[in-house]
Amino acid sequence: MSRLSSPVAGPSSEPDAIPGSDGSDPFLDGAGFFPGLPPGYDDCTTRSAVVVGGAMAGLAAAHALRRVGYSVTLAERQSYAEKRVNCGEAITDASLLPLEKTLENGFPCATSAFEVRVRGDGGTTSASFPSAQGYVADRNIVERRWAHRLAGEGVAVREETAISNTDFEGLLDEYDLVVDATGQPSLASRAAGATEEYAGAMTAINADVEGDFSELYPRALILFEGYLGYAWCFPKSETRANVGIGWAKQDLPDDFMAAFAAACERNGWPAPSRKAANVAIIPRGPSLDPQRTYDARGLVRVGDAAGIANRFTGKGISQAIHSSYLMAALAAHDRLPEYPRRLHGTMRPEYALSYLVRGTLEDGRLDLLGKIIEAVDGIDVERVDRSPREALSRLARRPALCVRLLACPAIRRRTIRALRDDWEYARREPDSTSERLSAASLGEVLPVLGWRQ
Ligand SMILES: Cc1cc2nc3c(=O)[nH]c(=O)nc-3n(C[C@H](O)[C@H](O)[C@H](O)COP(=O)(O)OP(=O)(O)OC[C@H]3O[C@@H](n4cnc5c(N)ncnc54)[C@H](O)[C@@H]3O)c2cc1C
Repeated sequence: MSRLSSPVAGPSSEPDAIPGSDGSDPFLDGAGFFPGLPPGYDDCTTRSAVVVGGAMAGLAAAHALRRVGYSVTLAERQSYAEKRVNCGEAITDASLLPLEKTLENGFPCATSAFEVRVRGDGGTTSASFPSAQGYVADRNIVERRWAHRLAGEGVAVREETAISNTDFEGLLDEYDLVVDATGQPSLASRAAGATEEYAGAMTAINADVEGDFSELYPRALILFEGYLGYAWCFPKSETRANVGIGWAKQDLPDDFMAAFAAACERNGWPAPSRKAANVAIIPRGPSLDPQRTYDARGLVRVGDAAGIANRFTGKGISQAIHSSYLMAALAAHDRLPEYPRRLHGTMRPEYALSYLVRGTLEDGRLDLLGKIIEAVDGIDVERVDRSPREALSRLARRPALCVRLLACPAIRRRTIRALRDDWEYARREPDSTSERLSAASLGEVLPVLGWRQ
């Protein structure tokens, strides 16, 4: 019997009852992009699963697998009472979480819109992305409450349980299904000595600060200011916000803290203390080959472990939950081998759009980035990722902008590579052929995204 099997109580220091559950279940109700559930779906009662990593992806996986009848053990290396989360904490589709959106459950701010400002040589361009289901959360509280709820529903929640590389291999013999939800670089990659298969492209520093955010609240702000990266201010109330800044590896400052303080000063945000600031890597791909998200021995990767965060923004919470719900629905259908194809199929348009837009930043074309955000102004922030065709068709309605974009060789090359996926995986570096692709190839690939020339 492994140490995971020993009886341990669920997360402590919480009240017995979880107030405020409205009874709905986003997994069962069909939110997300999974293929529905078969009749008798909850009949997987003889099957066992262990979920390693108890953040957003892991909690969602434990929730959904429990719903389809698995006996589930969840192992998280930190304690939920003291969990440290390095994140901007903006959850752009909070309807995916089976928790009522109360302060007590960690949802202080229903964010009405995400403002994006691009400050270039020619002035500032702004756009606003409404957010029907967006919240800026106290993510540590959300995770604690969700874990507590899972424990009440029969999931064996093991906190302060770090699974080692060696333990991990043993889990494959012990459980029918092993879910790797350990983020990046994932435990499966670490166990295989393959951590280089992920490439977090940005280093970020952020903190929860107190100050006057009454002008912005309940909106959130993302700023592009001329360096290779962006800053954010996500208010949780009129007096509290998560502020942060991230730089691509080509443009890292010598002193992160000084650069963060300078960004706070020029934007009128209070500068955090060094102690309050977290430094983390924002995962943005290129990353994992889809085939590596499922292993026929019964190992599946979800969330950041599957390498699915947005390639432009690094946003990955709703992506993580989607992947876990998709995985559990396929497990209930006995169709897990389809997971890589289905996951990649649902994410691919988002990858392509975000890689393309990121190219404007990487090429220092803030003028084009500003024009793109103006063109897609007003689309719900979550829909930009989930339905990129809408954003692309907005762009297509601006032929002058398309011509400017496609006149730029680097952006043209990126468009082709994005649509062909040949930029994506560390193990499948593009060869010189793709570098030499001509504009004529666009006619072949643009219809993939519904973009009519
Ligand atoms: C600075 C920053 C800001 C961000 N801001 C946002 C944002 O505002 N909105 C958004 O949507 N996304 C944001 N992201 C991305 C987002 O944080 C991730 O995409 C998301 O957290 C992925 O969730 P996950 O559960 O897959 O992985 P993680 O959040 O990385 O969780 C992995 C979990 O596994 C546990 N674990 C790891 N190893 C082991 C082990 N060996 N044994 C047991 N447990 C283990 C960890 O303790 C952790 O709890 C941000 C990322 C960064 C770095």
